[in-house]
Amino acid sequence: MSALPEDIATPAPETLDFLARKHQLLIDGQWVDAASGATIEVEDPATEKTIATVACGGADDIDRAVVAARKALKGEWSRITSHERSRLIWKLADALEARLNLAIELEVLDNGMPRPIANIAIAGSAINHLRYYAGWATKIHGQTIPVSPGGARNGESLTYTQREPVGVVGAITPWNAPLPMVMLKLAPALAAGCTMVLKPAEMTPLTALLIGQLTREVGIPDGVFNIVVGHGADAGAALSEHDDVDKIAFTGSTAVGKIILRAAAGNMKKVSLELGGKSPVVVFPDADLDRVIPGAARGAFFLQGQNCMAGTRLFVHADVYDQVVEGVAEMARAFKIGPGLQPGTDLGPLISANQVNTVMGYIAAGKQTDAELVCGGEAIEGPGHFVQPTIFGQTNMDMKIAREEIFGPVLCVQKFGDWDLDAIAEQCNSTIYGLSGSVWTRDISVAHRMVKKIDSGQVSINCHAAVDPAIPFGGNRQSGWGREFGQEGLEPYLKTKATTVMF
Ligand code: NDP
Repeated sequence: MSALPEDIATPAPETLDFLARKHQLLIDGQWVDAASGATIEVEDPATEKTIATVACGGADDIDRAVVAARKALKGEWSRITSHERSRLIWKLADALEARLNLAIELEVLDNGMPRPIANIAIAGSAINHLRYYAGWATKIHGQTIPVSPGGARNGESLTYTQREPVGVVGAITPWNAPLPMVMLKLAPALAAGCTMVLKPAEMTPLTALLIGQLTREVGIPDGVFNIVVGHGADAGAALSEHDDVDKIAFTGSTAVGKIILRAAAGNMKKVSLELGGKSPVVVFPDADLDRVIPGAARGAFFLQGQNCMAGTRLFVHADVYDQVVEGVAEMARAFKIGPGLQPGTDLGPLISANQVNTVMGYIAAGKQTDAELVCGGEAIEGPGHFVQPTIFGQTNMDMKIAREEIFGPVLCVQKFGDWDLDAIAEQCNSTIYGLSGSVWTRDISVAHRMVKKIDSGQVSINCHAAVDPAIPFGGNRQSGWGREFGQEGLEPYLKTKATTVMF
C-alpha cells in the first residue's frame, strides 16, 4: 500500500525542549548517567526518526537504585504520616495534570498512539488512578481478632493485625501504554508506603522520566522512586533477580512473566503479573448491533491491537454473522491511519519494525489457512510502522491466528449456530489466556450465564474492557497473578503483621 501523508502536526515547544534534554537515570533523587555510560536512542514509530537519547542502565545501576530504595524505605518516608503520603500522591496528580499536553505529546511520539487515546490514557486513567490511590493511603488498617491461643481464658487475650508496606518494589513495564502502566504500580505502591525501582520498556521511557521529574518537583523524598531505563535481559533481569527487592510488579508478555517467576525464586520475593490476552467477544443474535459493531471494532483495534485486553476473537451467531462482520469491516476500512499527532488519526503505527514483522508473520499464516481475509492484510509503506486493520472471518480454534496473542491489529471471527452456552464457553476458554472478554445480548439470563462460564478476570456485558481505577483488573490462567486497580490493587503492596497480647 502507498505511503502515508507527511503533514504531521508539530509538537509544542515544551515537548521539543523536553526531547532535546539530556535524559538520565533517576537514582536516590539524582539524575545520573548509566555506570557504563551507555545510551539508547528512542524512535518515533510514526517517522522512524530518533527523538531522544536516554541513559541505558544495567545491573550496576539497578544495584545502586535498590540500595537507594532500601535506604529511603527506612528513612524519612517511613516516618511521614499516611495523610502526608496521600497529599504527595494528590500533588503528583495535580503536577501531571498541569503538564498534560507535554505528557500526551511525549506518549504519542514515543509510543505512536493517537492523541485522543493518549488523552484518555493520561487524563482519564493515569491521573484518576493517582487520585484514587491518594484516597486509599489513609484507609489502610488491620483488624482486631478475639482469640484464645494457648488456653488463654476468653476475653484475656487479643490479636490485632497491622498492614505494613511490602518493602522495595521492582516495577517492570511494557511499551503499549507507557505512562498508565507506570501509574498502575506507582500509585498503590506510594499509597502503601513502599519505595520503587522502575525499569520501563526501553523503547518508551520518556513519560516515565517525566513522572520522575514530577516526583522531584512535588517533594517525594529522595530514593522513594528510582528509574533505571535499560534492556529487559540486562536491567530487567538484574531487578527481578535482586536479593534486596521484596516484590516485582510486572506487566508484559506471558513468556517474560515466566522468566520473572524463575528469577524471583532466589529470595522468594513476592510477584504480581499482568500478562497477555486473547479475549473473546460473544455476540448473540438479539444484541443491539448498533452498539456491537463499534464496540467490537474498537475492542479489537484500540491501540492498533497492541492492547492486552483487545477483543481479538469475535464469536458471532450465524443469524447476524454477515451483518456484524461487514459492519466491523466497514469501520476498519474507514479508520484513518497515520501519525498520532496528526488530527483525525484513528490508528497509529505499531511500536517497531520487529512488531510489524511479528504481526505480518501471523497475517501470512492466516492467509495460508481456510480463513476468509475480510479486510486489510497488508503493511503500509514507510516511513513508520503501519499495518492495516485486518479481519479474518470463518476462523476456528485450530488456527494459530485464533489461539495466539498477536498484539497487533488482527481480528479473528468465528461463527456459532446454536445457543449451547457451554460449547461457546469452551471455545472462549480454549487459549492459555483468561484476561478479558465480553458478552453482547439483551437477554439478561444468557448474559449472566455466559459471564459465569467465561474464565477471565474481567467479563463485561454490552461493552468491552471497561477501565476505571476502582474496577479490579487482572488475568486468570496464564494471563497473570493478582489484580491491579481497586482495593485489590493495593494488596500486593502490603503485608500483614499479627500481634497477640495476653493480659
Ligand atoms: P515483554 O514481556 O517483552 O516486556 C515487558 C517488560 O519486561 C519490558 O520492560 C521488557 O524490557 C522487560 N523484560 C524483557 N525481558 C526481560 C527479562 N528477561 N527479565 C526482566 N524483564 C524483562 O512485553 P512487551 O513490552 O512486548 O509488551 C507486550 C506484552 O505485554 C503483551 O503480551 C501484552 O499482552 C502484555 N501486556 C499485558 C497487560 C496486562 O495488564 N495484562 C497490559 C499491557 C501489556 P525491554 O522491552 O525494555 O527490553
